[in-house]
Amino acid sequence: MTELPEAEGPEPRKRVLFLFSDTGGGHRSATEAMIEALELEFPGRFDARMVDFFRDYYPSPLKYAPEIYPPISKVPHAWGFSFKVSDGKGRTRAVNALAYPYLRRAAQRLVKENPADLIVSVHPLVNTTLMRAMRRSPRPYLTVVTDLVSTHAFWYDRRADLVVVATDEAKAKAVEYGIPEGNLRVIGLPVAERFTHPPVDRDEWRDRMGWRRDLPVILLVGGGDGMGPLKRVAKAINEARLNATLVVICGRNAELKAELEQVDWHLPVHLYGFTTEMPQFMAAADMLVTKAGPGTISEAFISRLPLVLYARLPGQEDGNVTYVEQLRAGVWAPRPREVVDALRRWVDNPVARQEAAEASSRAAKPDAARRIARLIADQFGISD
Ligand code: UDP
Repeated sequence: MTELPEAEGPEPRKRVLFLFSDTGGGHRSATEAMIEALELEFPGRFDARMVDFFRDYYPSPLKYAPEIYPPISKVPHAWGFSFKVSDGKGRTRAVNALAYPYLRRAAQRLVKENPADLIVSVHPLVNTTLMRAMRRSPRPYLTVVTDLVSTHAFWYDRRADLVVVATDEAKAKAVEYGIPEGNLRVIGLPVAERFTHPPVDRDEWRDRMGWRRDLPVILLVGGGDGMGPLKRVAKAINEARLNATLVVICGRNAELKAELEQVDWHLPVHLYGFTTEMPQFMAAADMLVTKAGPGTISEAFISRLPLVLYARLPGQEDGNVTYVEQLRAGVWAPRPREVVDALRRWVDNPVARQEAAEASSRAAKPDAARRIARLIADQFGISD
């Protein structure tokens, strides 16, 4: 009897492990955007898994990092101080060396329990530990830096096979910290496809949410956790009685939402908690007031929104402010009064608002997630 040739099955899917943490909302958003892009570009070719390494693997107290992040970031000076004193090649090497004995087992368990053909990290505080833990069985490792400009040395471990950054400034930092230029790609922050193609149009969304069609909409967001002096800013906008609708997204900050519900509002206002529909909110808005989070800024560029930045994390988000200002896509307004002044200019002068909107739009990098997906596929020689 002649043997039949073995049937050729479909190629096994490549397993991609994404290391992120819910410290803020940006790492999750960037990860989900890349997973979406992998499926859009290469349907059925990849199995993606997301692991919150802090929450699911690291020992106490680090495992509470997602819970600790919002209160710590409320003390900006402490944040800025720890950012600065730990930044630098030698300092991060020392911190990593001190931390490794404490994190080694957790990192090894993470690697063992999540078999992967390639690892993508979107967090600065995992790279060196993980790569050390995989020393004997290294896997291709891609770091996607989800800060825009002021990137901490923790991001950069020269063992990474590829490092993706969003700006030339971040590239210069990466080179300074020892990443070979050949392993660097300047692409942009991965952002979900829905920001480029919102599922509903602006008027439809306004009708659905009960926002007036005839007034400009100011969207106020404080990152995934409703951070920064968002309450004071909202109240200042209220007192100024601008001729606009105010939409506030309080993120996971339920207390803030409850407080704002008690305010006596002098303009049309709509308050929301954490939303999964940010693309529609941005598409239907005319101006964005936000803390200088890299994810939110990148999404605003795609949504053509002029920005008023009212807060930043010192160190980490300083460069974002300069970046937005240099692009003329927005202004830095650290005092509520300055926020109101900036908004008033745009509410009263649609031409100036339009100019800022166009500048914002020019900075957009809507294809970043798909380009990173192609970079991942390249590692396996997959090109269609
Ligand atoms: N975000 C969201 N829903 C909300 C509030 C925020 O999906 O209700 C998302 C927002 O669109 C962005 C991320 O959370 O993708 C915030 O990331 P960013 O880098 O701006 O700030 P972080 O929270 O990481 O400091």
